[in-house]
Amino acid sequence: MTIKTRFAPSPTGYLHVGGARTALFSWLYARKHGGQFVLRIEDTDLERSTAESVNAILEGMTWLGLEYDEGPFYQTKRFDRYNEVIDQLLESGHAYRCDCPRERLDQLREEAMARKEKPRYDGCCREKTVNPDEPHVVRFRNPLDGAVVMDDMVLGKMVFENRELDDLIIRRSDGSPTYNLSVVVDDMDMEISHVIRGNDHVMNTPRQMNILHALGKAPPKYAHVPMILGDDGARLSKRHGAVSVMQYREQGFLPEALLNYLVRLGWSHGDQEIFSLDELTQLFDIDQVNKAASAFNTDKLLWLNQHYIKSADPARVAHLLGYHLGKRDIDPANGPELMDVVMAQRERAQTLEEMAEISEFIYRDFDDFDEKAAKKHLRPVAREPLERMLVALEALEEWTREKLHATVEQVATELGLNMGKVAQPLRVAVVGRAASPGIDDTLFLVGKEATLRRIDEALGYIFDREANTGEG
Ligand code: GLU
Repeated sequence: MTIKTRFAPSPTGYLHVGGARTALFSWLYARKHGGQFVLRIEDTDLERSTAESVNAILEGMTWLGLEYDEGPFYQTKRFDRYNEVIDQLLESGHAYRCDCPRERLDQLREEAMARKEKPRYDGCCREKTVNPDEPHVVRFRNPLDGAVVMDDMVLGKMVFENRELDDLIIRRSDGSPTYNLSVVVDDMDMEISHVIRGNDHVMNTPRQMNILHALGKAPPKYAHVPMILGDDGARLSKRHGAVSVMQYREQGFLPEALLNYLVRLGWSHGDQEIFSLDELTQLFDIDQVNKAASAFNTDKLLWLNQHYIKSADPARVAHLLGYHLGKRDIDPANGPELMDVVMAQRERAQTLEEMAEISEFIYRDFDDFDEKAAKKHLRPVAREPLERMLVALEALEEWTREKLHATVEQVATELGLNMGKVAQPLRVAVVGRAASPGIDDTLFLVGKEATLRRIDEALGYIFDREANTGEG
């Protein structure tokens, strides 16, 4: 059998991380089995679908690197085909026209609710002949008895009694096909072998299987994957933080970190945490996905992101860092080689945003010293080491890490201090806070002119402090 999977998002918002995980599972399944992966945009809900959201989905898929072999197909371009199938179902007696007025349907619903039953259409028009020229909907004639058995690759075997299912509307009174009908026609025409989707669609599956049966087609295999929950056990939503894939890019995550994180939500391979896509293609299988929902854990995603920042090609990280610096109005061209910044910072940041933040000092003077750091390190005892450093650095002709290191070391030796007693005040003077890469990297990246200016500023700060407090 040729394996073909699809991702079929409705373009009514951004690409949600839950959707991205479903897409990843479908993509991996197809890749693993040498099959094809299809992207289908389910834009039949004309009121809620937007072009902007289509773009967000396409952009998200591209960023994640989930390339598709076919598509994107747009359901709105296939209305004629859906109507053709609806007419076929009408002809074969598997569908019928219904002209029940809204009031009657409302009444049925209210009565069912009063009896605490699930509202269902009572089949009033099943045997009626309705004039096709009068307003009507088309309903699928669901079997009255028997059961639909779904052998789900994640959930296992599930049995749905036909008497529990409705004669669902497949064409609205305005002539537009409904979701369940379009999905069935698409999955059939596109020869989808495996439908992998969120388990919020479980209840649609027996209906879709019945429609397929009426069309004389065998159903595909189904895999309904569990929801992603927030840390409070509720379905993951905006109030838990970022849920849109592109928001993760903005926050400085690498796509491979997000993919690695998403695949591990509900799937595992021993206690391995880090997986490349190639490895996943070998190891992943849909029937190993957990039935239970998994909770999103931002700390773990951060940990993975840090891992990938450390191990990714520094030239690529440099390029991405340039983007995040740009968001802070920093032009990386006015500074050292970005690669040098990455090599100095990549062990120190969990996201590219954070890397940009902790690298600001390289490009611009800071406004204020971090209070705690200044209090501890810019004390009168630091005056002499800083004065000596200022003189020594000013005289330095070659601004290299080796020379910088040697200079700090020499000043420390001359004063009989350990290196930290010189390096730490120097760091706070130049960076504004107590944490930065090694002192030689730090000075190298800041450059001579800014380093000297900032040491001078720091000496002024110490002087004021001495004058104000009488410390000495
Ligand atoms: N368009 C549906 C959704 O975004 C998915 C339908 C399906 O996968 O069958 O929830």
